[in-house]
Amino acid sequence: MSLKQLPTLTTLALLLAALGSGPAAHAADKLCKLSISGNDLMQYDKKELTAAGDCTQIELTLTHTGKLPAAAMGHNWVLVKSADATAVANAGASAGLSNSYQQPGDPRVIASTKTIGGGESTSVTFSTSKLQKGGDYTYLCTFPGHNALMKGTFHFG
Ligand code: ZN
Repeated sequence: MSLKQLPTLTTLALLLAALGSGPAAHAADKLCKLSISGNDLMQYDKKELTAAGDCTQIELTLTHTGKLPAAAMGHNWVLVKSADATAVANAGASAGLSNSYQQPGDPRVIASTKTIGGGESTSVTFSTSKLQKGGDYTYLCTFPGHNALMKGTFHFG
């Protein structure tokens, strides 16, 4: 870049910095962090998760506290409307580990992590724009058979 361009770029950078740190930006965006773990006994450590209604983004971190590999005791975290939970679990179970036990592009899935094995962790960040406050949502593990135990209620708002 030439020296003549520098003042313009500096001005632009300052403007962008001012916009990004303005009060309006802070009021509009709120990232909320949630965490959950799964173990070798096919259980999540939480039966429900709650996000406040003013969260615009949610970052969910899943940790596998066990030792078994993903092929034997894999866990993921899949968020759906409660009415879709069984169908999504069934579709996921037949999708295989290479698809993280999720039907590719399943429109019923609101958010999901990949499938992990013991000692691993993973996270997903998603917008709450698809969620309705007070809606009936369920999270589950779609590894074959796991949703019988690995299922919980997700509250938004
Ligand atoms: Zn599982």
